[in-house]
Amino acid sequence: MARNAVQLQKGLSEAEFDRLYGTEEQCRPVVIKLRWPDGFSCPVCGGASYSVVKTRGLLQSTACRRQTSPIAGTMFASTKLPLRTWFRAMYHMTQGKQGISLIELGRRLGVRQTTA
Ligand SMILES: [Zn+2]
Repeated sequence: MARNAVQLQKGLSEAEFDRLYGTEEQCRPVVIKLRWPDGFSCPVCGGASYSVVKTRGLLQSTACRRQTSPIAGTMFASTKLPLRTWFRAMYHMTQGKQGISLIELGRRLGVRQTTA
């Protein structure tokens, strides 16, 4: 996958967007990708293998069973909004522009402390 695989492209229809990012399960891998661009790495043991604790959206290290939140320390953690709500807000913010990466958008959101 290209570096810009995580990108909301101009012209992506809302229906298409919903199909791609309409659920928490679809949004989570994107957030994980933002947090760990080279793949998940357990903060305790450094293991790359994990399973998802679905009820809480946590990642559990296969090796040491330590549970890690993929959104801790990110803009997503500052609110109780579901990830899909964030993604929808970002979708609407990016329409009509050149196309903007989620990383860039997150940077902007973080700076402005906006919950949109
Ligand atoms: Zn671990």
